[in-house]
Amino acid sequence: MTSKRQTDSNAQEALVEKKTLHENTSYWAKTPRISVRHFQNLPAQTCDILIIGSGISGALMAEQLCDGSRGVMMVDRRQPVRGSSLDSTAMIQHEIDIPLHLLARKIGEEKAMRAWQRSRDAVRSLVELVQNLDIECSMRAKNTLYLSGNELGSKALKAEAEIREKASINAKYLDQAATQSEFGIDRSASIVSRDSASANPAQLTAGLIRTAQARGLKVVSPIEITDVLPAGDHVACATAHGQVIVARQVVFCSGYEFLKRLESPQHSIISTWAIAAKPRSAVPGWLKDYLVWEASDPYLYLRMAADGSIIAGGEDEESSDAFDDSKKLAANTDTIVEKIEKLLGISLYPPHSRWAAPFGNTTTGLPFIGAVPGLENVYAVMGFGGNGITFSKIAAEIVNAQITGEKDSDADLFKFPT
Ligand SMILES: Cc1cc2nc3c(=O)[nH]c(=O)nc-3n(C[C@H](O)[C@H](O)[C@H](O)COP(=O)(O)OP(=O)(O)OC[C@H]3O[C@@H](n4cnc5c(N)ncnc54)[C@H](O)[C@@H]3O)c2cc1C
Repeated sequence: MTSKRQTDSNAQEALVEKKTLHENTSYWAKTPRISVRHFQNLPAQTCDILIIGSGISGALMAEQLCDGSRGVMMVDRRQPVRGSSLDSTAMIQHEIDIPLHLLARKIGEEKAMRAWQRSRDAVRSLVELVQNLDIECSMRAKNTLYLSGNELGSKALKAEAEIREKASINAKYLDQAATQSEFGIDRSASIVSRDSASANPAQLTAGLIRTAQARGLKVVSPIEITDVLPAGDHVACATAHGQVIVARQVVFCSGYEFLKRLESPQHSIISTWAIAAKPRSAVPGWLKDYLVWEASDPYLYLRMAADGSIIAGGEDEESSDAFDDSKKLAANTDTIVEKIEKLLGISLYPPHSRWAAPFGNTTTGLPFIGAVPGLENVYAVMGFGGNGITFSKIAAEIVNAQITGEKDSDADLFKFPT
């Protein structure tokens, strides 16, 4: 069986590129309620929909697709919830990495506005979904403070606030004096906005999977899918153990171990670092209600977790394996701590968790979602960029519409290049 079109010469090429996904253990790996009951062997070799991957993309996909009308199975080559979703700092933002005024220049104003609006709507509906499902994952709606930096100054932030207002996206521009008086931060400008959130990403993912299990989802681990072959109205998927799973539709939610046939210059894997640290001194009262990030390269972002720890990250490096270096882990996470202390004028204890991971970027900051070109009945989610969780929600909605034969009016924004 081959996953590639007949014209491809290298039939031996791996289906996905296996990667190391963590250096050191993230904070969330030490928290409760992140395990998911699962089968160790396939309970069946057929299903209506096969989801490959048990991270946040697979979890939201399962929650959306398990409506009682179809048999859904989820497989993962790792234990459930042990991919990149365990490393996420889970700043659940509607603000896309590429500011709206810059995205408008890249893809046109109408499309850029739709992408930002869809992102905002996805955050709102994710917060509502978690509330309705009563998932214990410290989900909290939050505001965002976006600070000027070495990439965008006050003029650019003003333009950004104006175009967001035009797109009906909540944003308030603050000049230097207002940023100082409202937040005690010395930057030339900032934008304050609503419609973001934060959560424990592992508890969120596990909670969504458990919800889907209650509606019939079968989770199997460890199962590695090594090949896919569409054949008429079904897709045959080979496993590393020599079995075959036959499904009507297959959805790859395999994170940064994406389908090799989807490799493109429009996205890349880089390295990123993160910490969790308890404050040694009092933190500003507003911080518990805000996500903070900046228009800088390398950039810093931070927020508070439910237990008062500061969760922060940044120092991104354009290398897919730099994260896997213990010296860089120590140095870059120390830098993150120093930057937070300087920005907020506070003191932190040495981090109780420091971790590093690969991270996916795209040239537009937008994810790739939808039908995989050349593979009938196969869909994929590449929720790359700093909004991976928000994009996973959009992906669940779009793929669900495509599978059920409905039209999603924003699917064109995120489709794979052909
Ligand atoms: C340090 C860090 C900080 C981040 N911070 C944020 C943030 O603040 N906000 C935000 O929104 N996003 C953030 N992200 C991004 C976000 O966490 C990711 O987009 C998201 O976790 C990816 O989820 P996923 O389900 O696609 O992938 P994963 O969680 O990696 O799940 C994919 C799963 O697929 C499995 N798999 C792969 N190939 C196969 C195969 N062939 N067969 C079987 N199983 C397979 C893997 O084992 C894995 O478990 C961050 C990411 C990192 C690394």
